[in-house]
Amino acid sequence: MRFLVVEDELDIRRPLVASLREAGFAVDEAESATEAHELAVNFPFDALMVDVGLPEGPLAGFSLVRQLRSEGHIVPVMFLTARDAVEDRITGLDAGGDDYMIKPFHLGEVQARLRALVRRGRAEIQSTRIWHDLEFDWTSRAVSRSGQRVALTAKEYSLLEVLASHPGRVFTREELIDRVWDGRFDAESNVVDTYVRNLRRKLGDDVVQTMRGVGYSFPAGE
Ligand code: CA
Repeated sequence: MRFLVVEDELDIRRPLVASLREAGFAVDEAESATEAHELAVNFPFDALMVDVGLPEGPLAGFSLVRQLRSEGHIVPVMFLTARDAVEDRITGLDAGGDDYMIKPFHLGEVQARLRALVRRGRAEIQSTRIWHDLEFDWTSRAVSRSGQRVALTAKEYSLLEVLASHPGRVFTREELIDRVWDGRFDAESNVVDTYVRNLRRKLGDDVVQTMRGVGYSFPAGE
């Protein structure tokens, strides 16, 4: 999953971004509404975390999300704010926000609520996915094959999650780098191939299919 954190206060942004990356998420950062808009319309984020007060104004976060919604972007949004007035929460929801965290927040709670937000955003995907004897649970991030629990690193899990969310769809290396590694590698990098090799070693060769010259996919069908 790839998130965008929009927050102008470095003391809040830095630990939030670090904790999300440590949990295996891909994360981009923006310091202003303008920068955030540019990123949000150009990259495939699974959710945005948006501070309400940004350099453009005390309510610029609300305006940013209103603008994105008016342009047709349906990405889930969590507002971050020091404000706890009821009117502000209502304004945030009216602006198109899906959830609200009041500072100071617990980093573990942010992660749990982000996962819930993304899950709600793709309600059509079941919480457990089973393919042959491979089973995984989006909620607990647990994977097992033939009844044996398999330990994956956070990035291995993220890669499998992207592929398995769209069975049969071929992702290019560049698309996978965008979604799993927040674009911090270039498309020539072999990071994707390395992680695909790890997934195959741990879960079996058949869990990731290679489309030569194009990319990788999770097998379609039962
Ligand atoms: Ca702020």
